Amino acid sequence: MESLRSLSRDSALPRLEFQMLWQHVLQVPRVWLIAHDGDPVDPAKAARFRELQARRLAGEPMAYILGVREFMGRDFHVSPAVLIPRPETELLVEAGLRHLEGLKSPRVLDLGTGTGAIAICIALDRPDARVAGSDSSAQALDVAKRNAQTLGAAVDFFHGSWYDALPAIGGFDLIVSNPPYIAASDPHLKQGDLRFEPASALTDHGDGLAALREIAQGAGQWLAPQGALLMEHGWDQAAAVRGIMESSGFGRVTSLPDLAGVERVTGGIYNEG
Ligand code: GLN
Repeated sequence: MESLRSLSRDSALPRLEFQMLWQHVLQVPRVWLIAHDGDPVDPAKAARFRELQARRLAGEPMAYILGVREFMGRDFHVSPAVLIPRPETELLVEAGLRHLEGLKSPRVLDLGTGTGAIAICIALDRPDARVAGSDSSAQALDVAKRNAQTLGAAVDFFHGSWYDALPAIGGFDLIVSNPPYIAASDPHLKQGDLRFEPASALTDHGDGLAALREIAQGAGQWLAPQGALLMEHGWDQAAAVRGIMESSGFGRVTSLPDLAGVERVTGGIYNEG
């Protein structure tokens, strides 16, 4: 009979991924695997593990195989209908929350919400906020709604492209977005996890700035006085995004560096400066 130990000797997976898949198959914590690594393994479970292992070895992202990814300390359900939340997007959430400090019952909009991670984290941190999220993908919205429900966040979800999704109510104190910003010609789209993620969440099928431009140009109409727009963008897009925001009527436009010192989020206040 096979054991976890013998299976691990034959596995081409890194040890951590081997353990994550087994935790998923057996629904046990990691310490259990270590304590039981010589026990015989149920052949049906071993077969299930091999299926998942084959998917991983074919390059499928771990998050899609497990159906979950952690973001800001919370577990979000993910499916191939949504972009997998990235650690750098936590910067966008943190900057958004900082803008809301001192505002009572603020109104917030997350454009292209995907898993709902950004909208949900803001709603959970600021229970007094009224948070809306939109997405052009109905399947993505199903994932976002499921996450909001599981995590107990009150978010209003709307289906449609950017601002077209919204009923005619403006007055947002904050608009946040992690839109598709990878240029169509970027070879990364054909590499790694990105091959499995929805193209509509990754690329604008153009120069990479089209969605950022559309969101910035439309924001004025939807923002309250002194309202802010904060957008995530690519590592080399900060200067271009600052230019787009300045010519779209924003003042105090600044880019924020991530932990690696790369400017990944740019924001500004509407109608200032
Ligand atoms: N941050 C993602 C990546 O570089 C892209 C996400 C996006 O386009 N919004 O893989």
